[in-house]
Amino acid sequence: MRLTVIGTGYLGATHAACMAELGHEVLGVDVDPDKVAALRAGRVPFHEPGLPELIAKHTASGRLRFTTSYEEAGGFGDVHFVCVGTPQLKDSEGADLIYVDAAFAAIAGHAAPDALLVGKSTVPVGTAGRLADACVPEVAWNPEFLREGFAVEDTLRPDRLVFGVRSTRAETILREVYAPVLAAGTPVVTADFPTAELVKTAANAFLATKISFINAMAEVCEVAGGDVTKLSEALGHDDRIGSRFLRSGVGFGGGCLPKDIRAFAHRADELGVSLAFLREVDAINMRRRDRVVELARELCGGDVLGARITVLGAAFKPDSDDIRDSPALNVAARLRLDGADVTVHDPAAMDNARKAFPLLGYAMTAEDALRGADLVLHLTEWPQFRAIDPEWARSLVRRPRIVDGRGALDVERWTAAGWRFSALGRPALNGEG
Ligand code: NAD
Repeated sequence: MRLTVIGTGYLGATHAACMAELGHEVLGVDVDPDKVAALRAGRVPFHEPGLPELIAKHTASGRLRFTTSYEEAGGFGDVHFVCVGTPQLKDSEGADLIYVDAAFAAIAGHAAPDALLVGKSTVPVGTAGRLADACVPEVAWNPEFLREGFAVEDTLRPDRLVFGVRSTRAETILREVYAPVLAAGTPVVTADFPTAELVKTAANAFLATKISFINAMAEVCEVAGGDVTKLSEALGHDDRIGSRFLRSGVGFGGGCLPKDIRAFAHRADELGVSLAFLREVDAINMRRRDRVVELARELCGGDVLGARITVLGAAFKPDSDDIRDSPALNVAARLRLDGADVTVHDPAAMDNARKAFPLLGYAMTAEDALRGADLVLHLTEWPQFRAIDPEWARSLVRRPRIVDGRGALDVERWTAAGWRFSALGRPALNGEG
């Protein structure tokens, strides 16, 4: 089939490459000429394991091309996937639909009347119906569940597909697009528009709630003297609860969960339904960042002014260079404002971090970042950081004190190497530091 993918950011570039991998001819469309030029040259302007190889493979084979022209897109294919951003509005919790509206208007103006326009962006419930009522080509909604860091795998082998459709024709076309994925046994749920839109926002709301639940338990442990890592281990053995998304830490960030739960609560208000608990989920999440800042102050004797603080991590999660609403950078920037001398190191997100937070210090290696530190904060769970040898790290720092904001480091090894070790939701453990 001949498909276009409109918006070639994290979601769209991945979707375009994976559709080519499934055997389709694909044209990626973006309004950003620099992004299109990079993708045409086979360069992926962000970090996503496996994606550069897939884009290079299919740009070379001619099955994948990129353009800035909607005119070209309209004439290219009969199925158009819309993958543009839906960020939070500047002055409210709601989603900014300006890009989605512009992309639908532009492709509807150029597409054949019998084309299918398929929305993949995460949108407030009601958006698909509104767009469908306003354009000639038929609309479908096919929300996306990929995780950054596993985007290629998640697109080629998703755990489910959701088709929001108003006709069997639209369902048949989507089944044809995803034929190899369906042939591999992937379950598909076909639903009306509101249900399809809600599957995505409900999934994100559930995951955010689970993370904030264990982080709220961490808050209780901190005052009651408990250990949240033991608590979550014991809870996780209950298969009604499960252990995934149940590890306490500095919380979630990124370009999806925070803005999606806010947009969902906002949309529910508009519909006259209260999802106030999502605002508490958000608040618990943000309080974990406050807690790391507070711990840093405590460990520096009440004041971070002049302290040399190393922040391990800038991306909102490992295997990504995405720094949107990154807890690590939020904490780093606040400590810098409090007068600390902050040095950040991240295996992939240094360029993005430097652009967004030019006043922070940056080190190209963990070794340079650690040298002379009074305090180390572990805030993004990269495997490279878990692999740091605490003895080696101790030989570099001025004072061996660490906050494990991800609950991922081996406490015994770090304390045995003489580190004063603090984590969220558990008692501090002292080496000699
Ligand atoms: P992004 O900001 O990385 O990419 C959006 C792209 O759309 C940009 O390249 C931008 O230039 C382009 N764009 C904007 N307006 C356009 C227009 N009118 N025509 C063509 N291109 C246009 O965003 P993203 O992370 O890829 O997210 C896109 C959507 O997918 C959002 O709704 C998001 O919530 C959802 N989503 C993202 C992920 C993820 O992990 N990133 C996962 C699932 C769903």
